[in-house]
Amino acid sequence: MTVSVRSAGKPAAQVRLSGWHARVDAWRAPDVVLRRSPAQAWFRRRAAGRLAVLGYHGVEDADAFAAQLDMLCRVAHPVSLAEVEKAVHGGRPLPPHSVLVTFDDGDATVFADGLPRLAARGIPAVCFVVPSLLDTDAQFWWEEAVSLWDHGGTSRHLPFGRGANAQSAVAALKLLPDDERRLALAELRSTATRPAPPYRQLTSDEVRALDAGGVVVGNHTLSHPCLDRCTDARVEEEVTGAHERLTEVLGHAPTTFAYPNGNVDERADRVLDKLGYRTGFLYNHALADPRSCPPLRIDRLRVSTTIGPDRLATVLSGLHPAVFRTARGAARGAARVLQPLARTS
Ligand SMILES: [Zn+2]
Repeated sequence: MTVSVRSAGKPAAQVRLSGWHARVDAWRAPDVVLRRSPAQAWFRRRAAGRLAVLGYHGVEDADAFAAQLDMLCRVAHPVSLAEVEKAVHGGRPLPPHSVLVTFDDGDATVFADGLPRLAARGIPAVCFVVPSLLDTDAQFWWEEAVSLWDHGGTSRHLPFGRGANAQSAVAALKLLPDDERRLALAELRSTATRPAPPYRQLTSDEVRALDAGGVVVGNHTLSHPCLDRCTDARVEEEVTGAHERLTEVLGHAPTTFAYPNGNVDERADRVLDKLGYRTGFLYNHALADPRSCPPLRIDRLRVSTTIGPDRLATVLSGLHPAVFRTARGAARGAARVLQPLARTS
């Protein structure tokens, strides 16, 4: 979901809320109750030996992000990718309550609003970039799909008609074989009443400034397809193409990767191994155990700058992920039970 925020005297800022966060915010866990519960203290003690890798997207609210960073400095121990890399490869263990800040997709706000606040506090971070978008004003494809759908776009590759909402259309696109997803997007473009609005992406200079400023730049594939929906040739092209382009921009090769949409793929792992990648990150809303997780399967926590301090505290402890997984499992179980009843009623 993309919304424009206009404040007095300022131009409209680009703000993205990923579909996942839109759903989680709608779910509205009772964050205050969770944080004050005895379970929080128990989870926090247990989390001391785990690694919290925070997975942000953009910096939607710069002041809130600064407050979150201050909180991390108080209650956790920010670490660098180099320290995490050593720990997951059997080297020096991480300090208690270690936290690594990461961003997916390379939103331009990471440079404009994130870098200065990270640098002011000496907090290292990682930004996973989609290099085909650098120096363009092209929307992320899933945000473009939302805009096209909301402006009457249709595609015969989607399993439903115009009655569905835009997020359902994006969810359906992510399940299509990648070639078909590209055809569906082309149909949406040709049938919508207007194109998606431009979206200012990072420039190559900004990527170099991030890298020089303590934000390691990682590979997030060339164009952000779901790798498990791609052909072998496309997997190779997406991972290697992004690697070559980032090497050219940075002047050195990236060694860390994040799976688009969190969809892991063993064919991608083989390419990453061949290219010398040392770490790979999931998007599964879980704390990582650096002593036992495979280096290309490091768990991450789903956060955004729009969550409050109570939520951030329970995410860092692992309590929110545990409650969220239980609630989601229960909802899926209920849906499985109720679906046949709905069909027979
Ligand atoms: Zn992504």
